[in-house]
Amino acid sequence: MSCKIDYQPAPNLLENRVVLVTGAGDGIGRAAALSYANHGATVILLGRTIAKLERVYDEIEAAGGPQPAIFPLNFEGATLKDFHDMAETLDKEFGRLDGLLHNAGLLGRITPFEQYNPELWQQVMQVNINGPIWMTQALLPLLQASEDASIIFTSSSVGRKGRAYWGAYSVSKFATEGFVDVLADELDNQSNIRVNSLNPGATRTQMRRTAFPGKTPLRCVHRKTLCLPIYG
Ligand code: NDP
Repeated sequence: MSCKIDYQPAPNLLENRVVLVTGAGDGIGRAAALSYANHGATVILLGRTIAKLERVYDEIEAAGGPQPAIFPLNFEGATLKDFHDMAETLDKEFGRLDGLLHNAGLLGRITPFEQYNPELWQQVMQVNINGPIWMTQALLPLLQASEDASIIFTSSSVGRKGRAYWGAYSVSKFATEGFVDVLADELDNQSNIRVNSLNPGATRTQMRRTAFPGKTPLRCVHRKTLCLPIYG
């Protein structure tokens, strides 16, 4: 998807929309959640660290946004049953889902492949692609209940061109791009659901600091809020 640099979403763009953001407690997910709420969305804050989600919840309330919801979930241990239980809870609470931002991500280690720990590889694949795929499957009926729903997967430049030492992270982002192509094609013209991947670009977060400890943060974007274009 190409984004217009000067794109300005209408203040009420997401009014009456229900949007779920994974990894909403920190970094890009937090910024996106705040921005969606600021544009009128009821945001479901999903993540593994409840204290962080509560802080975002409080920030949204303090800013006068629609009351958000917190959904604690750790992708590492999450099972199919967890995803289906989640869908049932959200169905009872909201009845539909208009937007789903897959943002939670794990960097793993930047290391030569011959030294890559297989358990860590599995963890990264679980958090970055396998968990989100099965969560998407469980949530499809709720997305179908929306007039026009949007699913965004967060990708990366290393999901389009491999880079030495980036191991599972890079592979998981290639898989993300592939899955988005498959699902978007499958739902094209026969569904109300759009599926896109989005590369946020270098952004000043904990993940970026870990990946590039020697790089000056001034070269990255600092995003207090961020409106990943779920609509518009
Ligand atoms: P951060 O490390 O700052 O945040 C990652 C988020 O994912 C956190 O909220 C974290 O929760 C959550 N998370 C991690 N593991 C799990 C898990 N097992 N279960 C549930 N939630 C989990 O990363 P960024 O904000 O930088 O990255 C967000 C997305 O953007 C990622 O998909 C990343 O690959 C992508 N991206 C980032 C770029 C950048 O420059 N920052 C560039 C390109 C892509 P907790 O806080 O509790 O650990």
